[in-house]
Order: sequence, then structure tokens, then C-alpha cells
Amino acid sequence: MPTVKLYDEMPYERNFRASVLGISDAGDGGCIVELDRTLFFPEEGGQSSDIGFLGGYEVTHAAIKNDLILHYIKCGPSDLNVGDEIEGSIDWEYRFSNMQNHTGEHILSGLLHSRWDSENTGFHLSDNIVTLDTSRELDENITDELEVAANRVIYENIPVSCRYFQKNELEGIEYRSKKEFDSDIRLVTIPGVDVCACCAPHVARTGEIGIITIIRTMRYKGGTRLTFLCGKRAYEYLLQVKKTADNIAHMLSENTGNLTGAVERILNERDELEVKLKNAARRRLYDDIDRLSDDIKEAVLFTDKADNLVQRDAVNYLAERHSGICAVFSSDDDGGYNYICAYPEGDARSVSKLLRDKLTAKGGGSKEMVQGNVKASEEEIRQVLLKNTD
Ligand SMILES: [Zn+2]
Repeated sequence: MPTVKLYDEMPYERNFRASVLGISDAGDGGCIVELDRTLFFPEEGGQSSDIGFLGGYEVTHAAIKNDLILHYIKCGPSDLNVGDEIEGSIDWEYRFSNMQNHTGEHILSGLLHSRWDSENTGFHLSDNIVTLDTSRELDENITDELEVAANRVIYENIPVSCRYFQKNELEGIEYRSKKEFDSDIRLVTIPGVDVCACCAPHVARTGEIGIITIIRTMRYKGGTRLTFLCGKRAYEYLLQVKKTADNIAHMLSENTGNLTGAVERILNERDELEVKLKNAARRRLYDDIDRLSDDIKEAVLFTDKADNLVQRDAVNYLAERHSGICAVFSSDDDGGYNYICAYPEGDARSVSKLLRDKLTAKGGGSKEMVQGNVKASEEEIRQVLLKNTD
């Protein structure tokens, strides 16, 4: 006997009584209970199952198998008996949130179908994520328009009906469905917005969804994956975003409404400072080079973090004046150095080999110039290079 789905007719009921028809060991310390009827919506159609309590024990999951709804309960197989009449209750806050998000998904999918010729190819509704996949790519203009249109459907507070139709009643009714049905079909209708085959509980009117917000879009299998939130989840998300924006505005002593301009100004200032810092580092490096006597053979310099191009130019400048190892070591972010080295009278590769062998440095290059990174102190590097050249 198929389990009677009380949630079909009574999506707003939270408590029920049912008879235990079967109990089996779940193998994880809990058991699986079959009832004659249930309010627990099982995991189905991309939506995670209801949770709650049965006979005083926690229900962690409900699954459907050949029309039987199986309840996964945290109790031993001997804690309940076949024939027991037990009380059940679903976690209403969790269920209502799922109803808000699922009806919201129908609104988005219905609008995409009728206005943008894009079909729903996947739906996932779990505790922390709600996604909808579309058959064609949607640009930002479309998703913006879609969000506005979906929220308008919420303001219009349109009644949502869920009803089974026999095959012969379906003539002339256009509905969305991913599969063919042999038996009666349950259609969820939002007049003027969407008609879709669906097995899940829905809100009675679109106004109960409260708000829909699309929080992310990404390309997915030739279409777009929309991540969105409805109702309480959307409100909590937007509240968090608002608090973050307010905090940042407070830190910048700006109004939240001026945040974009304020951040742009800071980024421009940062870019200008970076240029100034680079120029100063370049000047310092060339001052150091000019202070070296032209008579010395080896010219090894250490500098603060320098632009790779500046470092390379400096090494070329050194190599015009000195015949031995001409190297610039610029400090990296991890306490080591990025090096570039020329060796006019020798083979620069011998220097990178030496650094590799003695200081497990990384890097290499051509006879004329090598570059790499070494995790060692200035003193250790100088010792290795001087020993080599003495
Ligand atoms: Zn659905």
C-alpha cells in the first residue's frame, strides 16, 4: 500500500497521528519506519526531506521507494512496535522555508519559460543552497529583469493551487514537466505565471514568499546556474549584506549609499601610491648601484620587494659595469628573495646551480641571465656566492 501523503492536501499541518506498518534496522544505530500516512515530505524532485519527530524520536531523513515513504529515526528497532499509533510532528520552520523557496523556484522557472524561452534543466533545494539551472545562457540584464518580475509576482499575492489531474483532463493544459507521466499528475498552478508538474508542498499564495533574491549566476553546461534565496533565507542573507556594507561604510566614514564611489577613490589612491613606491624603490636601487666602485668584479645587491622589470633593468645596468656575478635579490612576501642574475665573464646558470645545490633555491635560465627564488638570509646567500668566486 502506498503511504498516504498527508502533505499533498494539508501542506500547513504540522502534527499528525499514524500507524506503524513496518520497522527495520538502519544499520547506523537508528531504524527505518514505515507508516500508513505521513506529513513528512521525502527527498524528491531536487528538494531535501522534512525533518522532525515521530513517537518522541528525532527523524533525520525521509525517503520514497516504490510509493512507500521511509522515515529514518534515531531509535532502536525495539523502541517502536508494528501496530503502534504514534504522534508525528515536522519541523515547521524548516518546511515553510522549503515551501517559500520551492514556490519561488516555480515563479522563476515559469517566467524564464514564458518570457525568455529558457527551460529549467535542474533544481536543488537543500539546507544551505538553492540552485536552478537553465537551458540557455542568461546575461545580467535578463537576471536583473527576472528578479524584478519574480518579486512583482510576490506583491500580486497570486493564489497557488496544487491538484491531481487524470490523463484525460489534461487536454489543452500546457504545463512544464521533465518527464512523461502514465498515472495521475499533480500540477502546481500559479495563474498567469506557471503550470508545472510537481510533488512538493507549496505556499498557498505567492505573497507568503516575501522576497526573491538572485545571489549568484555562473555558466553551467551551456546554460546558467542561478543561486537564489526566497523568504526568510533571503531576508537573513540581505540583512547580512546590509550589515557588512554598513560596517565598511562606518570604517570609511561614509554613507552606505556612497560606498561604491568611496571604494573607487581608495583603489585609485592605492594605485597611485603603488606607482610612487615602485619609483622610489627603483631610485634607491640605482643609487645603491651608483655607489658601488667600478673596480669591483662581483656586484650583488639586496633590495626591498622590487618590480620584476625594474630588477631586470638593474641587473643589465650592473652587467655593463662589472664582469663577475651581477645579481639583484629582491625580498619576497615569505622571508626569502626573488633573484635575477647575470654573469658577463661566465655562465649565469652556474650561479643558479650553486644556489640550488647549497640553498635549495629554485630557478634557472640562460647563459646570459637566470632568475629564481631562494629561501635564505642575505648573509647565507653572500657567503655562498663569495665562496664560489674566491
Ligand atoms: Zn516543483
